[in-house]
Amino acid sequence: LSDAEAPARPFRLGVMGGTFDPIHHGHLVAASEVAAEYGLDEVVFVPTGEPWQKAGRGVTDSEHRYLMTVVATASNPHFTVSRVDIDRPGPTYTIDTLRDLRRLRPNAELFFITGADAMAQIMSWKDIEELWTLAHFVGVTRPGHELSNSGRSNVSLLEVPAMAISSTDCRNRVQRRKPVWYLVPDGVVQYIAKYKLYNDDGGERA
Ligand code: ATP
Ligand code: MG
Repeated sequence: LSDAEAPARPFRLGVMGGTFDPIHHGHLVAASEVAAEYGLDEVVFVPTGEPWQKAGRGVTDSEHRYLMTVVATASNPHFTVSRVDIDRPGPTYTIDTLRDLRRLRPNAELFFITGADAMAQIMSWKDIEELWTLAHFVGVTRPGHELSNSGRSNVSLLEVPAMAISSTDCRNRVQRRKPVWYLVPDGVVQYIAKYKLYNDDGGERA
């Protein structure tokens, strides 16, 4: 069938939410694997606003996190970045992210992608029943975390190549002058150095 003859199927949009402080290859591999496995047409990365889960530790300015995410995803034609969460005042709730994306992309079927640790948190959220109506949920494996769908039929689980990388570890490495080459994309290594992020002085962190 040519494209013109092919039966229409809904556009499949992956949604990868995260603090991305900084974005690393664990995030990118997870998005890429889910995209391949579920035939996603696009994955939109959505950096959080002030994340309530992380109250207590300063989070890097959202413009830096947004730009690092743009740099990291720029070379992939199927990856995009959304500002919905960083432009919405107040803490980010996934329910708002999904409502906004549904409004902006009314014809897309949404696939919300989370690592095993975040999956466990989602199960405890209060708006959980509405969440299921807005998106499919895909939980991916993450080293050091148990992956479970708690018996939910609307949650799929996917094993992805194990990437023992976390943003916390990347920040600590930069602070201790250890390399983050090959843990984060080259452009992100250079962005961190250029703006002196994750330094001892904490000047860039809220
Ligand atoms: P931090 O250490 O600051 O919490 P993080 O590495 O966990 O950072 P987040 O921005 O918190 O990164 O994560 C965004 C999403 O990506 C979450 O769903 C998380 O589970 C998932 N994720 C992060 N790192 C990995 C990884 N190495 N493998 C699979 N999924 C991951
Ligand atoms: Mg995390």
